[in-house]
Amino acid sequence: MKTENTEPEVKRSLNFIESIVEEDLKNNKNNNVILTRFPPEPNGYLHIGHAKSICLNFGLAQRYNGKTNLRFDDTNPEKEEVEYVDSIMEDVRWLGFNWKGEAHYASDYFQQLYDWAVKIIKDGFAYVDDQSAEIISQQKGTPTQPGIESPHRNRSVEENLDLFTRMKNGEFKEGERVLRAKINMSSPNMHMRDPIMYRILKRNHHRTGNNWCIYPMYDYAHGQSDYIEGITHSICTLEFEVHRPLYEWFLDHVYTEGTIKPRQIEFARLNLSYTIMSKRKLLELVQNKIVNGWDDPRMPTISGMRRRGYTAAAIRQFADTIGVAKRDNVIDVALLEFNVREDLNKIAPRVMAVIDPLKIVITNYPENKEEIVTIENNPEDPSMGNREMPFSQAIFIEKDDFMEDAPKKFFRLTVGSEVRLKSAYIIKCEKVIKDSTGNITELHCTYDPDSRSGSGTEASQRKVKGTLHWVSAKHAIEAEVRLYDRLFNDEAPDGHKDKDYKDFINTDSLKVIKNCKLEPSLKNAAPESKYQFQRIGYFCVDKKDSKPGALVFNRTVPLKDSWTKIQNKE
Ligand code: ATP
Ligand code: MG
Repeated sequence: MKTENTEPEVKRSLNFIESIVEEDLKNNKNNNVILTRFPPEPNGYLHIGHAKSICLNFGLAQRYNGKTNLRFDDTNPEKEEVEYVDSIMEDVRWLGFNWKGEAHYASDYFQQLYDWAVKIIKDGFAYVDDQSAEIISQQKGTPTQPGIESPHRNRSVEENLDLFTRMKNGEFKEGERVLRAKINMSSPNMHMRDPIMYRILKRNHHRTGNNWCIYPMYDYAHGQSDYIEGITHSICTLEFEVHRPLYEWFLDHVYTEGTIKPRQIEFARLNLSYTIMSKRKLLELVQNKIVNGWDDPRMPTISGMRRRGYTAAAIRQFADTIGVAKRDNVIDVALLEFNVREDLNKIAPRVMAVIDPLKIVITNYPENKEEIVTIENNPEDPSMGNREMPFSQAIFIEKDDFMEDAPKKFFRLTVGSEVRLKSAYIIKCEKVIKDSTGNITELHCTYDPDSRSGSGTEASQRKVKGTLHWVSAKHAIEAEVRLYDRLFNDEAPDGHKDKDYKDFINTDSLKVIKNCKLEPSLKNAAPESKYQFQRIGYFCVDKKDSKPGALVFNRTVPLKDSWTKIQNKE
């Protein structure tokens, strides 16, 4: 077990799961083995809710010198695909976690699960039912009304064994027979009313091919898989709390004294405002081409967030900040964005990029002159060093950094006013040039040759109202910039009774801006590298669409700070 010295940063009090684990360790339970698992069903890409579960399972093991298994819950051959398996492994690794040994698959246990089902039949606790799923569900009763026992409930063990074998051998059609646990049709817990253990599905499975035509149900497969692997703490979301008696019932029927009996612990799933997390709905967004694939940067998937520029460290920090709750709640998505900004603020070099360019000609600056200005890469971290940027007679600034009829409080450029070009000179706007329709095409400015930042002159210290970012026109490189906004314009898109979540799609969630002007140091920016475009936000090079010579940047998050705050700092 880790001592406090090895983890001095953990000052918060224990969450309820950590308390359980510490209690178990104190009591020497399971010989002090801690083995958790992350059990995704490979029927979609992982999302931020899964990230929470991953951080919890792997984090708990790390903290208590344990290990974590990755297990694919692939008991449903209808919906599962190899593409999902690969993406899940990649996402877990990217988040910074390593599972114990090879990845596991519930399908690896099909034979063992079958053998145990046979044992349960022999013990008189399971039977084959010939009724349809529909009838079985009608007979379930309601929480206040007992269910109806199946006419096949009291079949002999021999008959059950024979029928179950024939189910396995493919003698029946899909839906003709099921295997049910024989528990209690009047239990107040509906899950205990003779739940189905096996159904017939004549489908090809991504790993076992056509070896099986009967497949175990989740409740039966899950706990037994935990048991086979020797999982000590089986952490799942709250909706499984009512399944826990069944989880334990199955375990009790296969348990061998002296082995590890997994303990199921439930916590509240992560819900985020402005976000949907149902895999079915996310799949629908992909299939209906409302987004461009599972890794679209607007998706709440791990791969989407990664592509957008979120860091694994920020996601882990977010998971840690929200902690582990016992009651359902909704977390403000702004908290996630806050964690992303915090991390990027530390690691992202500052660069100058003009998204909506307006040309300025500095009329008193020599036409062919070039100067090099030196700029720090990150004021938060001097160890990130400096870079050089060319300055020349023509530059670009952001269109909305200029206003012709500016109100008093406009601290940027207007006719007759002065601003500082960051790390360079003070310029003054002399003249606005317009085309025949009255659109501003460029500005003519003059500069104060003594005002260069860092030159030590009196003018270099001169305070002016605002500081603008800029790039030299002839040195600028062009890039496409993608501005993302929330995918939904409602806080709880799937929380409306009479409306579909798709009614709340934000049709402005992606703005593509071509021909943005970037400082030349970005020419060889590598895929996924992250920057702060000064005064605009955090951006990252798109890993799929960006090419040398045709760079594409995704906006990760805007800067929180308002214009004025940043300007007043300079
Ligand atoms: P499905 O609707 O397909 O069942 P699921 O979200 O439950 O989707 P799984 O692949 O079964 O998906 O989930 C893997 C693990 O991630 C489970 O242990 C589950 O409890 C956990 N998990 C899923 N969604 C969340 C969430 N929003 N918050 C926390 N944990 C989650
Ligand atoms: Mg699930």
